[in-house]
Amino acid sequence: MARISYRVRPETAVLTRGFDPALSVGAARPPVYRSSTFVFPSPEAAERAFGIVLGKISPVGEDRPDLIYARLNHPNAEILEEQLVPLERGARFAAVFNSGMAAIVTVMLTFLERGSELIYTQPLYGGTQHLIHQVIEPLGFHARSVPAGDANALDEALERSPNARLVLIESPANPTLMMTDIARAAVAVRRHPKRPLLAVDNTLLGPTFQHPLAIGADLSVYSATKFLGGFSDLLAGAVLSDDPELIQSLTGMRALFGNILQADECWILDSRLSTVGLRMNRQSKNAQRIAEQLARHPGVDRVIYPSLFKDPEQIRIRDAQTDYPGSLVTIEVKGGKHAAFEFLRRLKIAKNAVSLGGVESLVCHPMTTTHSELSAQEFSAAGITESMVRISVGTEHWRDLLDEFVRALDAA
Ligand SMILES: *Cc1c(COP(=O)(O)O)cnc(C)c1O
Repeated sequence: MARISYRVRPETAVLTRGFDPALSVGAARPPVYRSSTFVFPSPEAAERAFGIVLGKISPVGEDRPDLIYARLNHPNAEILEEQLVPLERGARFAAVFNSGMAAIVTVMLTFLERGSELIYTQPLYGGTQHLIHQVIEPLGFHARSVPAGDANALDEALERSPNARLVLIESPANPTLMMTDIARAAVAVRRHPKRPLLAVDNTLLGPTFQHPLAIGADLSVYSATKFLGGFSDLLAGAVLSDDPELIQSLTGMRALFGNILQADECWILDSRLSTVGLRMNRQSKNAQRIAEQLARHPGVDRVIYPSLFKDPEQIRIRDAQTDYPGSLVTIEVKGGKHAAFEFLRRLKIAKNAVSLGGVESLVCHPMTTTHSELSAQEFSAAGITESMVRISVGTEHWRDLLDEFVRALDAA
């Protein structure tokens, strides 16, 4: 790998790390190495590669083991992982997966031990919540939820969980944008006798606006399908850490589960990394202008957006751990579910679809789509109402979007 010996900033590192054109006939962009298996230069090299993978021998210095088989590792995953690292403040290692859910389930099944406890903030991404109820709890792990933003509840849950092994925070929570204090959770896990790991689902504000590893989290977890991918055309997941052993444990499990991100997807995703900061900054500026205008519209009961927070504790957390408010805006439309549906029906620029983070604006009704698996009690605990509409603001001109939202609200 071509290494620049002096330190460069993330925007430069992402375009200069991980790939040496001299190793690929001078190609400026990495080739896609579509090969399921890799030829060893000698039987001794094959023996050594397996010895390293099975932990029987350790590699010397910078000397890397030879590639074996693409389920374990392949060149495009290595390139992508090296280029992801500089984007995540505090990270030294990364592992890529074939979806965000693949990353999350691998984190859970790697670090939860027999009889151990998982503590998580609520609301969680719908798929993650479902995973806990359908897979993690039936396997015998104890899962305990605490309301997002409630640091005392998290402390108490840790006290009541002597075998806590993993704490999963999603901040801001989706779709209510409740923020949870990551630095305080990092202190709490270090006080616990079992020292559980702290994982943060950083999909909504990372890697540009929120930096969990820099404030004490052990793992930063992504659905790279969202902002990292940016164009709603691929599924991917990633986990970053500054601890090589944590990432090694994950890649060991990844080799068994077979959920490494494939070469083509790695190649597409690495082409998106240099623009993630540009896209997120534009999307956040658009969203802030739109949110602050919609807050004045008589057809809207409430706009939930970080720059409009009123709760002093939420404002404190926002200012402590986020750089910019991001591009998710949740509005409560006057007139309940009917009005929310009428609003959605009238949109043409913004599309009625789940997912978020892409350059195109997407709008959905969380209660009947992304969060429809929740029980009535979970809805009220999470603060999700039938009049809520979640908007993921893209890179269109903000005036066009605002005009459309205002027209749709006037009609609804
Ligand atoms: C989308 C999403 C996931 C799941 O990721 P996939 O790539 O769809 O598997 C997990 N967490 C959050 C916060 C998400 O938005």
